[in-house]
Amino acid sequence: MRKSPFTVCVVGGGFTGSAAAIACLTRIKTPFRLVMIEPSSALGRGVAYGSHHPLNLLNVRTRNLSIRAGQPGDFLNWAFGQLDQGENQAGLHEALAHTFLPRQLFGEYVRQRLFETVARRADVEFTVIAGTALACAIEGDRYRIALDRAETVVADIVVLATAYGVVRFAGTGALAPFEMVPGERLARAGSIALIGSGLTMTDVLLSARRDGFQGKALVISRRGQLPRPHAPKGVVPQQVGLPRSKRVSMLAAALRIACEMAEENGTPWQAIINGLRPSLQDIWQGLAADEQARFLRHLRPFWEAHRHRLPMEVHGRLRAEFSEGRAHLLRGSVVEVTRDGERFKLKLKRRASEEHEIIDADLAFDCSGFKPDLDQSLIASLFARGLARPDPHRLGLVVRRNGEVMGEGGRPTEGLFAIGPLCQGTLWEITAVPEIVAQADQAAESVAALSESEAGAERRAASA
Ligand SMILES: Cc1cc2nc3c(=O)[nH]c(=O)nc-3n(C[C@H](O)[C@H](O)[C@H](O)COP(=O)(O)OP(=O)(O)OC[C@H]3O[C@@H](n4cnc5c(N)ncnc54)[C@H](O)[C@@H]3O)c2cc1C
Repeated sequence: MRKSPFTVCVVGGGFTGSAAAIACLTRIKTPFRLVMIEPSSALGRGVAYGSHHPLNLLNVRTRNLSIRAGQPGDFLNWAFGQLDQGENQAGLHEALAHTFLPRQLFGEYVRQRLFETVARRADVEFTVIAGTALACAIEGDRYRIALDRAETVVADIVVLATAYGVVRFAGTGALAPFEMVPGERLARAGSIALIGSGLTMTDVLLSARRDGFQGKALVISRRGQLPRPHAPKGVVPQQVGLPRSKRVSMLAAALRIACEMAEENGTPWQAIINGLRPSLQDIWQGLAADEQARFLRHLRPFWEAHRHRLPMEVHGRLRAEFSEGRAHLLRGSVVEVTRDGERFKLKLKRRASEEHEIIDADLAFDCSGFKPDLDQSLIASLFARGLARPDPHRLGLVVRRNGEVMGEGGRPTEGLFAIGPLCQGTLWEITAVPEIVAQADQAAESVAALSESEAGAERRAASA
């Protein structure tokens, strides 16, 4: 008979790990052991909701964010609860619903919901291990997870929520977007080079301005696409019938026409993009790998500029940077960044040119976007043992929709799940809050079923 309790080990304690933990605590009705492994002290925050500038805003309206599956207004109600003085003002609730709040506040909400949910389950043994998981192997019928410290964790279920990996500050190349630069150095800087032109670039540039940077910004990007704004008021998502084509060029053309027609009829194009969101995983999975690769090569920057949008006010400030000549957009790719004392040298290849040129800047930030880290030793150990395999684009792992990880031979590895950005190559639309929460809930449902069957087997063994 089993001596230790049914154990779920969540690796990674950012937003996704917290969503997975909350989902398991909600779905698994019998007592169990829940272990979270996370090296940073900021459980619940991860790369998106923690160490950034306190004034960086969410890119999603308050009403559309929640870490609780099936409770879409939960963040709104939480935020309202923080502000309301007992007068229960409907006007304040309505105003908050449309607001874009600071990302750090969302991190606070995630942490609070995690610890509240834990507190409600006195029958669950909850442990947080401040460490990094280095390897995972099957031993008998359980998983053994090795850490960067002496102990190991033995678990029945492993949920990978490691997304963008462990935050590291590189001593070479450009600075990471979340690296803090002292205000005095920013105020002295005459120039900043920003590699990438999306939401991360916007965060870094506007944060630098707030912290005293008055020089010129050079934004370098292959396609030169800047993020588009949200519609002035929240829009009602509108579904359009796209052709059943398996070609991304046909789908993109049909989508463009649908957006233009919507605009002509007085509906913002954003409504069409939002309406497409629930079908995106189906559309992506309906494409052959070479068509997906074509999308990644040619269309991704255009798609992301329209899909991941800025609050209007932030967009206005970004636009003013360019129209008032404080920022310049340069089309090209950065081949190499070297540090020269406190300064940076960027080797650049402009679009449609074979020549390289060198650009000097006082500061340089890599804003080319956060990518799932498949090179870390934990993930490498899963590949080496055939427990997981990378998707054809090496964006993440091959998974089922509920996060079940597929091993070598095309079979699911029982009890191993990956949630959130690690699933991007297989599911594409899985990096934002609503999709992560929905997937965490589906995974927890499967985990609950596994725990029930385990409990049933134990009861049968005990009565035999
Ligand atoms: C800057 C930014 C802003 C965003 N803003 C929004 C927004 O406004 N709205 C929205 O819907 N979505 C937003 N997103 C998208 C979405 O919320 C993120 O994709 C989400 O935060 C991903 O969280 P995560 O926990 O999967 O990843 P991460 O935040 O990367 O967390 C992973 C965690 O795992 C830990 N870890 C990694 N490897 C190991 C290991 N081997 N052992 C132990 N721990 C490990 C890391 O320390 C880290 O804490 C944003 C994303 C980013 C990057």
